[in-house]
Amino acid sequence: MEGFVNTGNDRRANAILPSMRISFLECTRCGERLSADRPQNVCPKDGGVLYVRYDLASLKGKLRRQDLSRRVASMWRYAEVLPEALPVTLGEGFTPMLPSREYANAYIKDEGLNPTGSFKARGMSAAVTMARHYGLKKLAAPSAGNAGGALAAYAAAAGIEAHIFMPKDVPIANRMECDYFGAHLTLVDGLISDCGRMVAERKDKEGWFDVSTLKEPFRLEGKKTMGYEVAEQLDWKLPRGIIYPTGGGVGMIGMWKAFDEIEELGWIGSERPKMVTVQATGCAPIVKAWEEGKSVSEIWTGAATFAAGLRVPKAYGDYLILDILRKSHGTAVAATDEEILAATRPWASTEGIFAAPEGASSLVAYRKLLASGFFSESDQVVLFNTGSAYKYLDMIEAQEKKERAVSSASTPAARNIGGIIGPY
Ligand SMILES: [Zn+2]
Repeated sequence: MEGFVNTGNDRRANAILPSMRISFLECTRCGERLSADRPQNVCPKDGGVLYVRYDLASLKGKLRRQDLSRRVASMWRYAEVLPEALPVTLGEGFTPMLPSREYANAYIKDEGLNPTGSFKARGMSAAVTMARHYGLKKLAAPSAGNAGGALAAYAAAAGIEAHIFMPKDVPIANRMECDYFGAHLTLVDGLISDCGRMVAERKDKEGWFDVSTLKEPFRLEGKKTMGYEVAEQLDWKLPRGIIYPTGGGVGMIGMWKAFDEIEELGWIGSERPKMVTVQATGCAPIVKAWEEGKSVSEIWTGAATFAAGLRVPKAYGDYLILDILRKSHGTAVAATDEEILAATRPWASTEGIFAAPEGASSLVAYRKLLASGFFSESDQVVLFNTGSAYKYLDMIEAQEKKERAVSSASTPAARNIGGIIGPY
């Protein structure tokens, strides 16, 4: 096999067993089963998110975890638990699991190394793969930034039209990549929720298929591969905790789904990590709902944070995220923009990782949870960096300037409260 290059394009090279047919799509609210033979969005009865279900029982004992070791280093190495279709791939997934240089038992899962610089590549690779499989020609999605860029790239690779709606103040990189990837981009004076409304209003007339977060079942399938990777890269022992920056929360939902699948395959037991949501203080609907003990969130008004991907006023799958936090004995933490910016620097200078602001919020949460005793330093915890800072240079610089302006306007006495000088 020396010199063998497996791009993931040939599924037969990955799978040792015949490809899995999807058994059905299952509504997460009412359990309704739908066929995967044609494109589906959400449950027609109640709008519930659809999960892709496979016949995992038939794989148990036949597919062994050690069978994975020689496979392509992309998310398509998990061929048997992904839809049966020729992948639209740019090499997404199987990102590094880096041991922290600062904390003995922390790991950083660096999703910034994905195509288009963020974890959004995984979901869009799977969604666009299935869109091409179904013969869809026009896809549409609202985006806080990186999902739009990823959709644009994968649509380009598949020869499919992409119609993307983003807030006009997204990072420059997101606007430019959509342009270069050849997507149809609409910049909106509003938030991702406003963009979502525009897609919903126009999709039928324009003949677009809606690939909004959790409004089709396959982005979740792509994102769930992060759960398979966490397990495989930690030698099939799940960590004590996973800290996940949460906008739409698809990755958290996907990882939780993955852990159940991996258990069904017989590769892990029933123990689960404590799942931790981190959001920005300026847009923290899940944190608020968690603290109030609610099972769904309310729409966050006046959402504002430079961590563009966390500016999601209401996650479509909030009921799933909050359920996972509860079942996993996890928690939800908020980080201010000042804390997030301050965390970006030590992660860069200590770990060598220039993290997106959303990713740096994981470090803020980790420090807070160590301080509160929720985690101890001996607990193995995986911190997700969801994207690369190279996509956010303008946002990071603007946030630096904003903070410098605030600090030069305030008197030294005012900043030095109780002898503690910020930012902590
Ligand atoms: Zn339903």
